[in-house]
Amino acid sequence: MRQSQQVITVTGAVSATRLGIALPHEHVMVDFIGADRVSRSRYDADEVYRAVLPYLQKVRQAGCRTLMECTPAYLGRDPQLLQRLSRASGLYILTNTGWYGAASDKYLPAKVHTLTAEQIAAEWIGEFEKGIEGTSIRPGFIKIGVDPEPSPVDMRLLEAAAITHRKTGLTVASHTGVGSAARKQIERLKEMGVNPSAFIWVHAQVETDPQMHVWAAQQGAWVEFDGVSPQTVDQHVQLLVHMKRQGQLHRVLVSHDAGWYNVGEPGGGTFREYTTLFSQMLPALRKAGFTDGDTQQVTATNPQRAFTVQVRLA
Ligand SMILES: [Zn+2]
Repeated sequence: MRQSQQVITVTGAVSATRLGIALPHEHVMVDFIGADRVSRSRYDADEVYRAVLPYLQKVRQAGCRTLMECTPAYLGRDPQLLQRLSRASGLYILTNTGWYGAASDKYLPAKVHTLTAEQIAAEWIGEFEKGIEGTSIRPGFIKIGVDPEPSPVDMRLLEAAAITHRKTGLTVASHTGVGSAARKQIERLKEMGVNPSAFIWVHAQVETDPQMHVWAAQQGAWVEFDGVSPQTVDQHVQLLVHMKRQGQLHRVLVSHDAGWYNVGEPGGGTFREYTTLFSQMLPALRKAGFTDGDTQQVTATNPQRAFTVQVRLA
């Protein structure tokens, strides 16, 4: 297997061609308590396992083969739980390295303020090379987050992600939202020698100017419309139709940003399913003129290419 064709899942590296239909942005478990108080003792992993497994089984039944779990460290990332759920559900699951600077640094460890981008990157590269927190489970991508007006710390995380990418080939998925913040990150990545094709603009549906989506796609970045729910199907179809008309469908990712067992709520609270894409969005896209080739591109080919581990230089 060539190094350039691999994706790293919680059960090991696999050929990217095996991913099948993938959901590039979902959550299994999240704990919003904050970096200063987050802890494994705040939840019962067996209970979370029992609560979430049926939803993973259901989406696999619907045709999904791979799920990228986007919960970063200090927000409830638990690679061993994901590994158990992957084995039990038959889904490939990817976890991540990286820190989340959105929400005004609530989910950042205090040490971030004393570390350089190089020192932060060294921690993330360590997880890639040695495994996460004493396990042999390796991250399949880098997850960061920035505020709508990225702070200096947010930009340091982006720089750490660029350094980590250049060393590991992991793709950078950044919780971003508005287009101005996406532009700022894409331009900084280019200055640091990283090709925008290594960058996923997460929550791009928040940006109301569709020309920003086209601009980012033309730069080579991945434009992720990830809030698919029964309430947003029409809006998401419009976003995709626009990208198709602009010839940019090969740069689009689609997911629910759903789940999740919410630590601290009884039974994990209300779980949002991962199936709207299959039950509602794909039929709506066909009605809007999408061919099987188009939907295959968006749901399988694009995630496969986006998450293939490969150094992409500007
Ligand atoms: Zn998310």
